[in-house]
Amino acid sequence: MSPDLSHIDSWIFDLDNTLYPADVEFFNQIVVKMNQFVSRYLSLEPEAALHLQKSYLAEYGTTLSGMMAVHGMDPTAFLDYVHDVDLGFLKPNLALRTAISALPGKKYIFTNGSKGHARNVATHLEVFDLFDGHFGVEDTGYIPKPKAHAYDAFLDVFDEIDPKKAIFFEDNLRNLEVPKQLGMRTVLLVSDADWSHEPAAARPASADIKADFVDYISDDLAGWLKTHT
Ligand SMILES: [Mg+2]
Repeated sequence: MSPDLSHIDSWIFDLDNTLYPADVEFFNQIVVKMNQFVSRYLSLEPEAALHLQKSYLAEYGTTLSGMMAVHGMDPTAFLDYVHDVDLGFLKPNLALRTAISALPGKKYIFTNGSKGHARNVATHLEVFDLFDGHFGVEDTGYIPKPKAHAYDAFLDVFDEIDPKKAIFFEDNLRNLEVPKQLGMRTVLLVSDADWSHEPAAARPASADIKADFVDYISDDLAGWLKTHT
């Protein structure tokens, strides 16, 4: 174990674009379905719906959270619809399975998607059984990362976690600021794929990013875990 991580006993992973390498084709399915749902729900053209989604992403953290706050939308149908995607784009990752299995302590998934989505994706990646808990946006009362409330809700459910002995893995830069404030180590997963079509707040970070709340940057989660533990 690298000296800086010898105290770590809780390993917390975001799901999408973190437990699998940022995959434009896979994640685009969710992006397209969110836009379809919002445009139908509000009877808007897709472009107008996208414009609205961007503002909700910035103000509320996610499209879902904005739709609930502003339009009183029921989250269940939305989540079921947007997470009904083809998992075939994602490949089971034996190196990741080996690396996660070797981690000392407990492992968790913390996603802004639904718990069912976390289960589906992690099961498809053949790593779900390695985790001690998974936590979705429904567990936050639909107040997602990066809002501090989401992390408080996570730490309420998994109250065995000492944030000062935890490490947080994320592809979305802004979602690491609160974990760092809580005393966690932070690892940013980056991608060199072209995400310029995505609103800035939704993009996986690129490798040239710099932020004082990021301890480590990697484009290879399994390789990073293997090297540092
Ligand atoms: Mg993510």
